[in-house]
Amino acid sequence: MAPTATSMLAAYAYSPNISLGREHPEPDHHFRTVFERDRDRVVHSTAFRRLVNKTQVFPSPTNDHHRTRITHTLEVAQISRVVARQLGLEEDLTESVALAHDLGHPPFGHAGEDELRELMKDHGGFEHNLHALRIVTALEYRYPGFPGLNLTWEVREAFAHHSKSSDKSIINYMSVGQPFLEAQVADEVDSLAYNAHDIEDALTAGLISEADVMDIRIWRQTYNDIIRQFPSIPVGTRVPTIVRKLIDSQVKDLIIQSRENIKQERIDSIEAVRKCSRLVVGMSAQMRELRLELEHFLHRQVYKHTRVQRMAQKGRRIIRRLFQEFLACPLLLPTRYREKLEILPPHRVICDYLAGMTDRFAKLEYVRIFNADDQV
Ligand code: MG
Repeated sequence: MAPTATSMLAAYAYSPNISLGREHPEPDHHFRTVFERDRDRVVHSTAFRRLVNKTQVFPSPTNDHHRTRITHTLEVAQISRVVARQLGLEEDLTESVALAHDLGHPPFGHAGEDELRELMKDHGGFEHNLHALRIVTALEYRYPGFPGLNLTWEVREAFAHHSKSSDKSIINYMSVGQPFLEAQVADEVDSLAYNAHDIEDALTAGLISEADVMDIRIWRQTYNDIIRQFPSIPVGTRVPTIVRKLIDSQVKDLIIQSRENIKQERIDSIEAVRKCSRLVVGMSAQMRELRLELEHFLHRQVYKHTRVQRMAQKGRRIIRRLFQEFLACPLLLPTRYREKLEILPPHRVICDYLAGMTDRFAKLEYVRIFNADDQV
């Protein structure tokens, strides 16, 4: 008999006892539930460790203080767990989905993904959620009995639901109806977390000033609250205090509004979640409007900033040139990837190799391949 979770679960929570299980059947563990094991497998995976050197928005040379994909992921997992507990949801499943949510990201953030999508457009495409599915079902090699991590259906389904793609490989996952609430939480918290930390990182890196962010209503309101509460707050703690409060007020809104939606939609079972006409985990209309304003600011002033764009272009060039070089001569690939050429088209093998790289490794490989004087 599989062990059960100890916290009090709501009737609409996704208990490990009803998991649709793994692709390759395995015996139950004597003290961890299936979702605890999923979480641990994600944390022990190579793809997870590589997140440490993958760009979120600001590449590693910017400074040592900004988020990388791993610290972003940890923030998402920690906030998601708080929300899940408050809503009576399955915390380990929530955490597994949150910790895994960015596993499929290639180096150099969205720029890297855009470049791979372009290079793969006539060869099956590239999208980070679909790639995460490839990682956890085929590419990781750590277990003797199966390829990938052999995660439960539920964690795999969350990637599929998070994807905007209509690829036929995920039709099965999508056929269950709406995503379970634990996945809805991780998805909402993902944007909540990056909106808040991207503002902080952009301020710390000097891309924008405190005067600039006063144009954003939610920032201005939070700033005024903080100054009222701590009139002589030192400059150095002002920004982190505002950011913390920004996260706190959005999390509070998310919990209250989601509880309200659950009541309104009479969600009392997993079936009700699946059949509901809308996603029930979400912020209030008022908070969503404030969030939209914040996101517009980020797109205009941060993601399109000259320094961010220069790094993005550099990243795209590194990926493009490496891709073209490997395609021209697949013998340059490491042995493990050369062997895959026997069963997969070269475009997919090269894409898998490049997508798995960290920013650091991609730059190193670029130097090894193109610098005439460097060690190969
Ligand atoms: Mg994310």
